[in-house]
Amino acid sequence: MEEKDSSLNEVANVLSKLKTSSIVDDYTINWNQKLGTGVNGPVWPCKKNGTNERFALKILPDKPSSRMEISLHSRCSRHPAIVTLYDVYANEVQFPGEAHPCPRILMVMELMDGGELFDRISQQKGFTEAQAVRYAKQIASSIQQCHSLNIAHRDLKPENLLLKDNSENSPVKLSDFGFAKVDDGSLATPHFTPYYVAPQVLEAQRRQRREEKGIIPTSPGPYTYDKSCDIWSIGVIIYIMLCGYPPFYPETPSRKISREMCHRIMAGQYDFPAEEWRHISDEAKDLVTKLLKVDPMERLNISELMEHSWMQENRASNVTLNSPAIMLDKNLMEEAMRVHSEQLTSMRLPDKRVVLKPVAKANNPIIRKRARSSCQSLDNRVVEGQPEPKHRKDTDAITKLRDVIAYCILPPQGGCNHEYLCELMQTAQEHNHECNTLKAALESLRWNGKAFEAPVEPSKLALALSNVVKEKNLNNSTQ
Ligand code: ATP
Repeated sequence: MEEKDSSLNEVANVLSKLKTSSIVDDYTINWNQKLGTGVNGPVWPCKKNGTNERFALKILPDKPSSRMEISLHSRCSRHPAIVTLYDVYANEVQFPGEAHPCPRILMVMELMDGGELFDRISQQKGFTEAQAVRYAKQIASSIQQCHSLNIAHRDLKPENLLLKDNSENSPVKLSDFGFAKVDDGSLATPHFTPYYVAPQVLEAQRRQRREEKGIIPTSPGPYTYDKSCDIWSIGVIIYIMLCGYPPFYPETPSRKISREMCHRIMAGQYDFPAEEWRHISDEAKDLVTKLLKVDPMERLNISELMEHSWMQENRASNVTLNSPAIMLDKNLMEEAMRVHSEQLTSMRLPDKRVVLKPVAKANNPIIRKRARSSCQSLDNRVVEGQPEPKHRKDTDAITKLRDVIAYCILPPQGGCNHEYLCELMQTAQEHNHECNTLKAALESLRWNGKAFEAPVEPSKLALALSNVVKEKNLNNSTQ
């Protein structure tokens, strides 16, 4: 509880430093050049007025998720392996083509002039295992910083690993905290009601209980499902650095991860083809194997990773690797990055093997009984003629949103039924009619109060609603 309070204080502290003066009083932005483009649009170069210091500017819409991003980035940013966040402004900005200025968050960050990690490696002559260790150590230390603050990054991918400059020994740093999350052990106290819970979450709970009873040794800080997804990512990145292609890839290029590939990931089916791996040390293979464990609880945690023998630079080999030449194949690399990105998206949601239903639709008599009795005990507290207690309304409102999330991310075998989804959405909206964040989210998904006017991607809807739930939980806990 204390930990939760202190992280909320930290968020408030960071947000209180947000500048409302105009950014152009302090910085000159070069709108003619782009450093890169992400889902939130381009990142621009800028210069501090009166000096020659150069920075990178990322602009986000001013909404709770963006404020969370800057808060988490700012907390992690005092570390040499993480892109520094220098200044944050909340300004009204009007882009060409927009009818009026919109509230936006402007993040002034350390300029990373050396491009993305894999582009650099693909151009590097004589890239060795020892150099791969140097990068792996920096990547791992950035994640160690996040995990030590109980923050899971959850979007660790090559596009978010940037080099400071073009020098040979340029450091690599982690950026983009858009999916980061305070991981206060809440995966051991599930966000989802018990019938939604993923097996991994139950396993985390079991492990925590066993640690508390002293049956197994205590791990340093809660090791949760979310944190374990960062470790998985490090495994994939190390694998690619060493051989030039990803551990899991589709047989034929396609826009979606195939069922077969999904099986391979779930079963941990990858190998070390002799052609490229013959010259690679057994220690490297041992580490990759321990990072790409299917069961998150069997995966190394960040401290174990840092201590692994392969991570000790002086022991790695100086034999040149084939990976740069293989990475030059742009199509293969793009495919590898897309697949990894999709894997991360699915890892951020609970286990797909569980079929979720709202309580009202449950067939299981135990769940139905539990649902009835919990309703009754709440009902008993309502005095006739009196308004419903606020906490009960809040709980109901969140439960209805979770019903939609659950249906989106874990639809029944036959797939998502649009009509039923709309029914659930209508109920959720009725219970949350005063929530402006929900209104805005639904508007952007073209919800007209009864149905979605354009096909809605269930994962997008789930993400939007889980942000609403997060905000509601945050509000409830600060009241
Ligand atoms: P996504 O989630 O799609 O990655 P995003 O909108 O959150 O996108 P970022 O990943 O933060 O954006 O940045 C997009 C691109 O901008 C990066 O891939 C990189 O090429 C460039 N970029 C980001 N930050 C910096 C920086 N500090 N210095 C230089 N270039 C940067």
